[in-house]
This record gives sequence, C-alpha cells and structure tokens, in this order.
Amino acid sequence: MTDLTKLTAVEIAGLVAGGDASAVEVTQAHLDRIAAVDDRVNAFLHVDADGALAAARAVDDRRAAGEDLGPLAGVPVAVKDVLTTKGVPTTVGSKILEGWRPPYDATIVQRLRAAGTVMLGKTNMDEFAMGSSTEYSAYGPTRNPWDTDRIPGGSGGGSAAALAAYEAPLAIGSDTGGSIRQPGAVTGTVGAKPTYGGTSRYGLVAFSSSLDTPGPCARTVLDAALLHAAIGGHDPRDSTSIPQPVPDVVAAARLGATGDLTGVKLGVVAEFSGEGAEPGVAAAFRDSVDALAKLGAEIVEVSCPHFKYALPAYYLIAPSECSSNLARFDGVRFGLREGDDGNRSLEEVMSLTRDAGFGPEVKRRIMLGTYALSSGYYDAYYGQAQKVRTLITRDFTAAFERVDALISPTTPFVAFPIGARTSDPYQMYLADLYTIPTNLYGGPGISVPCGLSDGLPVGLQVMAPTMADDRMYRVAAALESAVGTFTPPAL
Ligand code: GLN
Repeated sequence: MTDLTKLTAVEIAGLVAGGDASAVEVTQAHLDRIAAVDDRVNAFLHVDADGALAAARAVDDRRAAGEDLGPLAGVPVAVKDVLTTKGVPTTVGSKILEGWRPPYDATIVQRLRAAGTVMLGKTNMDEFAMGSSTEYSAYGPTRNPWDTDRIPGGSGGGSAAALAAYEAPLAIGSDTGGSIRQPGAVTGTVGAKPTYGGTSRYGLVAFSSSLDTPGPCARTVLDAALLHAAIGGHDPRDSTSIPQPVPDVVAAARLGATGDLTGVKLGVVAEFSGEGAEPGVAAAFRDSVDALAKLGAEIVEVSCPHFKYALPAYYLIAPSECSSNLARFDGVRFGLREGDDGNRSLEEVMSLTRDAGFGPEVKRRIMLGTYALSSGYYDAYYGQAQKVRTLITRDFTAAFERVDALISPTTPFVAFPIGARTSDPYQMYLADLYTIPTNLYGGPGISVPCGLSDGLPVGLQVMAPTMADDRMYRVAAALESAVGTFTPPAL
C-alpha cells in the first residue's frame, strides 16, 4: 500500500481524480501522520480534523457526481497562522490573539477551498512573522525534521517543517523579508515569494504592508507552481493587488523540468556569492551554478552595489510599518484583554494588554519603528531607508537589462541549533541577508534545494523581474531536475 503522505500534490490529485484514493483516505493519512510526529516537530498550532474531513468528503462527493475537480482537488494543505480562517483559531503566533476565531476567510483561504484543497490546520510561526527561526512563537518553537535540535527557519517554520516531516504536501507561507524562502532553504523544501501584489493580502494579518507577500510552499517546484496558480491573481479587496493574471508558472515549471536552459542568461550576484556565506553553503552554491551551466544557461557575474544596505534599510522600513499596523491590537477589538476589572481606565487596559500580549521581539520592532518615524528622526532614518529602497530597485532594474534572472544562495548559513541566535537580534537578522533585497524591490524570488552541507539542506535563490514569476520557476525546476529532491532522515 502506497504511503499517501510521501506523495507529491500532483500524484495525490491524480489518485483522487482517478478514483484510486479518496480525498478522505488521503486526509486521514495526513492527520495520522500529524498525530504520530507533531509532538516532536510542533509544526501545527491548530489541527482542524473535522473541517478537513468535511472538505475531503465534499471533494469525494463532487467526484462521485462526475464534476471536473481541478488540479489540486483533494490535496491537503497547511496554512500559516497569519491568514484568517473563518471560525478556525488564528493567533499569528501571538498571545495577543489567543482565542480569536476570525469571522471571515482570507482571499487565499477562499481560493484554496474553491480549488478543492483540504485545509489540515494552521502552522506555527514567529510572533507576527517577526523572526527567522520560529523561536519567537508564543507557543513554543517548531523543530527542523532534519535534526530536531535545530531551527526550521522562520517566520514560517511551521509550514516548512510540516512539508519536510510529511505532515502536508503543500503549505502557505508569507514573506516580508524571507519568511517563505529561508525556511524552505533550511528544511530542504521549495518556497516561493510571488511578485508583491501578485497574491492577495486580504485577510493576511499585516506586519509590513509594503512588503508582505503570501505564497506557496511545497516539496517540488511543480507543486509550488500549481499552488501559486491556485492562490494568485487579482483581488479587488486588496488595494495593492495587481490587476493582471499571474504569468503561467505551471507551464514554466514543466518547461524547466525538461532540464534545458539554453538561451537563459543568469546573473550570479557578486555581493552574495561566497563572502558572508558558510563554506558549506558557498560550496553547494558553486556546484549548483556549474549544474545550471551544464543545463545550457549562460552564467555571468552581476554587481548589485546597494544590496549591502538592504538589511539596515529593511530594519527601518519593516519596523516603521509594523509600529503603525500593530496599533490595532488594543485589547478592545480582538483576542486578549488584560486588567479590565472595572476600575481601570481604557489607557491602562490597553497598556496592560499590550505588555502581556506581545513578546520581546515584537516590542523591540514597535519601539524601533516608533523611533524611526518620530519627528526629528524621520528623515534621517525612515526617509533615508526609502531612498536606499529606490537604489536597490535600480540595481535590480539594471541587472535585468543584462540577465533574465539573478541567483544567489538563499541563506548565508544552514539550520542552526535552537537557542544559538536568540540572545543577539543582529545574528538572527542576518539569516535574511540574501532574501531581503527582493522584498524591497517587489519582485519574485524562489528557494529550491540545491545540496547538503554536513547533512543539512542548502537552498539556491532565483530572483526575477516583477511579474516574471514564470522565469524563476523555469530555472528552479531545471535545477531540481539536475540535483533531485532532498529527503530528511526518518523521524
Ligand atoms: N526574518 C525577517 C524579520 O524578522 C523576515 C520576516 C518575514 O519575512 N516575515 O523581519
């Protein structure tokens, strides 16, 4: 009997459509897997077994009625706890939203349901998506299935770990500075940040609204592309949503899988190749560049001189936007309310609620952002960071006049031990050194497994021009066809 949890989304959808497995069987196999391993992984904050089985039954009924099911019907999916799910708890990894059951589904969740996917539950994350290790979750860290003493990346460590632990074949993440790609890299899975505005932010709990981008996570590039196609596209309820169709990422992934990159010109980002990366990461990256060249790609080196300022610019822009966005958590409208004993003023209750509800990293960001936006400092910090953002965009624009896509390692280092970087915020921030420029520019980026360093996964990042998401899928699928996929040791 096939182990249904070891299959790709494409394989599962094929079995369901052909009547060789029911969606209920597939869902039950994943629920059993979660029950067997999640006490060691902690990928899920909430498992919605009843909701999942009901959704699966609906798919089976539609098949029995002879309906056309679509390419992902019956495929289980795990959703990062940053997206609202109607009636299903949504915490964003924070105590401040404990117990909140949103009255509506995020657009992405609606599209997942419409595609016939089966939502298994909500995945663990750094509080409010601020972090690179999932250690800042108020509900305990997620562990990396490759080595449970190590971090699974962050902020979407739960989604990536659920894939690597075979608890789900598909997952949704959100990427503000790297939170889809970096967890993908350190768990040996695929994570794609779509073009900003290519996926809807409606129902995504806001961290930094000019950067936040929900996107697909999977174990193969084609599965990620199918999920991207299912969730992407214009949404009138998101004012920054792009009113254009998503490029054909599925066709691009299929084209890439033929292993031919003849005519494709790739730029290795000079500033991100080698220096700053661990030796094992740099070596795996170099080998992958050779593999891409063997597939026919032309490789050139491209300098992006302002990328080195991306990290400091991001740590002014993102906290500034967060300090404004998080003002809504006041103990009145949602979730936690602290100290409301009838004798305290509104201001005291707000202050007690925010003190009890937010963790230290979220408070650090709110303070940083409030300072950067305060009068007298605004121009020197926030204003300066916005100018740097423009220069980084110009680096991308100039690079894409010369090459079709840029490549770099996804992260400077492999999964580190739990606890290794929590005492020094800067060391934690460095995890996103290579992923942040793409967010500031707004283009798409994907991380695809490219090798191992001391038995731990390394990711290669492909960055493309805005609304050319298809290009990155082609390159990533081609690399995958050459290096294969990576399976963690059995849990
Ligand atoms: N690690 C980065 C941060 O803490 C990025 C987070 C993200 O992409 N959500 O801000």
